[in-house]
Amino acid sequence: MISFEMPESIHKTRVLMETVAENMMRPMARYFDENEHEIPWDYINFMHQAMAQMGGSAITTQEDEKKERKGPRLGFQNLTFLVEMLSWGDTGIYLCTPGGGLGAAAVQAAGTAEHKKRFLARHQGEKPTFDAMALTESHAGSGMPAEVRTTAVRDGDEWILNGEKIFVTAGNKALVDSDGFVVIWATIDPSAGRAGVRPVVVEAGTPGCTVTKMEHKLGIRASDTVSILLQDCRVPFENLMGDPEVKEKKTEGAKGVHLTFDATRPIVAASAMGVARAALETIKQMLEEQGIEIRYGLPRSRLTNIEREIIDMETKLQATWLLTIKSMWMADERKENTIEASMCKFLAGDVVVDITQRAVELMGPLGYTRDYLLEKWFRDAKINDLYEGTGQINRLIVARRILDYSRHELS
Ligand SMILES: Cc1cc2nc3c(=O)[nH]c(=O)nc-3n(C[C@H](O)[C@H](O)[C@H](O)COP(=O)(O)OP(=O)(O)OC[C@H]3O[C@@H](n4cnc5c(N)ncnc54)[C@H](O)[C@@H]3O)c2cc1C
Repeated sequence: MISFEMPESIHKTRVLMETVAENMMRPMARYFDENEHEIPWDYINFMHQAMAQMGGSAITTQEDEKKERKGPRLGFQNLTFLVEMLSWGDTGIYLCTPGGGLGAAAVQAAGTAEHKKRFLARHQGEKPTFDAMALTESHAGSGMPAEVRTTAVRDGDEWILNGEKIFVTAGNKALVDSDGFVVIWATIDPSAGRAGVRPVVVEAGTPGCTVTKMEHKLGIRASDTVSILLQDCRVPFENLMGDPEVKEKKTEGAKGVHLTFDATRPIVAASAMGVARAALETIKQMLEEQGIEIRYGLPRSRLTNIEREIIDMETKLQATWLLTIKSMWMADERKENTIEASMCKFLAGDVVVDITQRAVELMGPLGYTRDYLLEKWFRDAKINDLYEGTGQINRLIVARRILDYSRHELS
């Protein structure tokens, strides 16, 4: 049964996050947009402390998992509500939240209990740490794992990594600004295609792993996006997650990527929802200041065009939000959620771009100026339609699942 009541534990954390979003993020949003790559340490340190008090990042040991199996988990739903609220504050700054990034999601999805203990426990240390996940290469983005050319070659009790990863979110924070890690997707057998791809953890300070470029971006400018070069980068044998051999030409490696995305795509959707809500609330308030109130309940034919537009936007936002919560509820219930995760991700990408663009338009020249955050939210919105699979790619994933077509049959 899906319940629409927000559990008390989630409600309390959400209230705290609302205070953070309102008082710590919104007032700094413009500054960190204009000063790209400056680091919001006040926010980072505060969140590190707050998360420690709330029980730390989502590390699950085997014992925890056994305990959890007795009842429904709330972990993913919890995260969805928090991410929506923090992104309502500011998405760029939210992406600077320590711990629990894409790298942690990959460890959770593909790692053993030992990996989880070893790599996720560092987020509970005294200093904030970050993690990242690097799948994309210059010729391996939407095409995903099959095209990965970064290699991991076994040498005794080590793996040697060579290759270049691009567009890695929080890569600089993970490798340079903190003692974090990056999960690198590499092939242990280039002839095996998807079956040869494995996630390998590379910790900050590992020789041969260098950040080579920081991107200048349209939006989410508080967050760093980097290229990472791996040159004879040696990591311990145990840092590879999954089978160290390709026994059959199965798609085991790609499975880890999909499990990671099943967990993280709804989180991106939630983040998009936060930005869309911020824009919608702001235009409603600005309209109210101009004496325009939305007359809910009137027949559609008696509403003005602006009223109809606002109501339509609210409907899209609510519908997408419900689908997002459903996909995370499914994750908490350990139900397969690939279709719902991709659906809510591409819908949220469309909805946030649409709402922020309409918000700028409705406010006329005011929406276009830097006096308001509307133009910034319009720029921040687009990334939700790009990372973790573009809108087109997520639509393809849904279509393949529904029609039961392979990648080759529908590409
Ligand atoms: C700010 C930012 C942060 C990022 N963070 C990360 C990260 O942390 N880790 C990581 O691994 N990657 C990251 N990425 C990379 C991102 O996930 C990819 O850019 C994205 O998946 C698209 O892949 P691509 O760049 O190779 O595009 P391409 O595959 O070259 O696609 C280009 C365009 O063609 C479309 N297209 C491609 N194939 C099809 C098809 N079959 N049918 C219809 N349309 C198609 C795509 O939708 C897209 O619009 C980030 C990117 C950005 C911009």
